[in-house]
Amino acid sequence: MRRKQNSGFIETIYGPMYSGKSNELVSRIKAYGYAGEKYIAFSPDIDTRNKKNIIISRTGIQNLATKINSKFPEDIFKYISKDIKAVGIDEAQFFNISLIDVVDKLANLGIDVYVAGLNLDFAKRPFETIMKLLPISEFVTSKMAVCFDCGSNAYFSSRINSSPSDNAVLIGTNQYKAHCRKCWNKTNKNLIKGVKSV
Ligand code: ADP
Ligand code: MG
Ligand code: ZN
Repeated sequence: MRRKQNSGFIETIYGPMYSGKSNELVSRIKAYGYAGEKYIAFSPDIDTRNKKNIIISRTGIQNLATKINSKFPEDIFKYISKDIKAVGIDEAQFFNISLIDVVDKLANLGIDVYVAGLNLDFAKRPFETIMKLLPISEFVTSKMAVCFDCGSNAYFSSRINSSPSDNAVLIGTNQYKAHCRKCWNKTNKNLIKGVKSV
């Protein structure tokens, strides 16, 4: 059931690499611009893919984004003025857990908050920031990519030449593939062993 929204809200858009998270995020916030409403976008400063202040989707759609120190998501408030109707935050998995509070406060201020992030890292480990964001989000959009190896629905990401001890996601490289469950298992036989033995 959907009724009119009398306050700000949070929508989390999440899924594997290549699933169109950034595309969805940018489309959502740009809609405010078409309506003549003000919006602003942010991304963490450890997104190495683009040094510039921009969110880029592989679809080609893009939007300016202010880079925020990933350890201090509170800095977002420095850029929030009264006339802002919507906020977009990309690559949210890289932000410190205090992003949850920030996002909640923004929605309480009456702002529509759109957050995009990865469901799992290449070893199928969840990201705490995304996990804790989900239950406080009024709306959740789960995305799928197309499996690089077989063309099925892909809900997982594989990192080529990875080892279980790697704990960070290196974004912006071509070292990742979106995989379905079967192809992920095939690709990550050694990784599965490693993760289980931890
Ligand atoms: P994300 O932010 O989730 O990584 P993007 O918005 O940057 O995703 O890119 C999604 C777009 O990438 C798709 O709309 C499609 O045009 C393109 N694309 C390329 N390879 C794939 C794939 N294997 N599965 C899905 N989309 C893909
Ligand atoms: Mg993206
Ligand atoms: Zn597959």
